[in-house]
Amino acid sequence: MFKELLSTMRVVALPMKTDFRGVTVREVALFKGEYGWGEFSPFLEYGDPESSRWLASAIEAATQPRPPRLRSSIPVNGTIPDSNDKKIIEDLVASYPGVMTYKVKVGANLSEDIVRLARIRSLGRKVNIRIDVNGLWSVEQALTNLYAFYENVGPFEYVEQPCATLDEMRELKNKIHIPLKIAADEVIRKAEDPFAIDLKGAADIVMLKVQPLGGITRSLAIAEHHGLPAVVSSALESAVGINYGVELAASLKDLNFDCGLATGSLMAKNVAELPIVDGSLAVSDLDINFDSLDVAPDRYEWWKNRAMRCAEVLGI
Ligand SMILES: [Mg+2]
Repeated sequence: MFKELLSTMRVVALPMKTDFRGVTVREVALFKGEYGWGEFSPFLEYGDPESSRWLASAIEAATQPRPPRLRSSIPVNGTIPDSNDKKIIEDLVASYPGVMTYKVKVGANLSEDIVRLARIRSLGRKVNIRIDVNGLWSVEQALTNLYAFYENVGPFEYVEQPCATLDEMRELKNKIHIPLKIAADEVIRKAEDPFAIDLKGAADIVMLKVQPLGGITRSLAIAEHHGLPAVVSSALESAVGINYGVELAASLKDLNFDCGLATGSLMAKNVAELPIVDGSLAVSDLDINFDSLDVAPDRYEWWKNRAMRCAEVLGI
């Protein structure tokens, strides 16, 4: 069955508007099955065992029906990368029409982080700010920096993965004296077994990324298992992968936070339009167009070999 799916593979290279986590061109592989396109796009440096979960998600998307849609649009957050270029930030903000929540990447440099956060805060007091540290801080650094953010730009909605480990997140929650919600991202999506970790006392929110977690069914099970509110987020995917995240968000019983599914705005070209209207993405089917986005043959071979190795990991 996988051979058949593999024969449908397209690999496209999507130019980014700005460098995001070192990526300037995003390569993604797409497969088409009975139920539409599925995306397989682990970052290039990821190993096969981790990447195999992304493949499981692509296969599910192509070969399984979508779960029932419980809502027709998904409110999204804008994502601001680790940049203080005024023009880049202004252009990005303009590409998120009606969006009321911004996720700001921080962690590398306190004073630059504050400048970036203040710029977003200047959009208005009604704007929610959430920050993503990608596990860069120790507990001590987290305390210092979060107090500094709080003093300079006011309260934020939550902090995503402030420290790398669950123990540190728990210690931070115990020690900090400002209201603070912590969202767990890497500790779940990089865990060998996301069902085996105990988030109690360490996190208030779970980040659900459909590809790294192995598909919609498994993501829903992980959210249910941990019993915490969920935020659906993307992994810098093409419109195909994003739209699968939109389907996941549409199928969650409770959705109380804006979702991180607007990263299409970071791309200069894409395989489909996914317009943000009044701060939300519509839950709908895509109109795919690969026009001049295909990669060179050597990159196609690279992705084909990677997909076959990951299929082997999955035992299919
Ligand atoms: Mg994150």
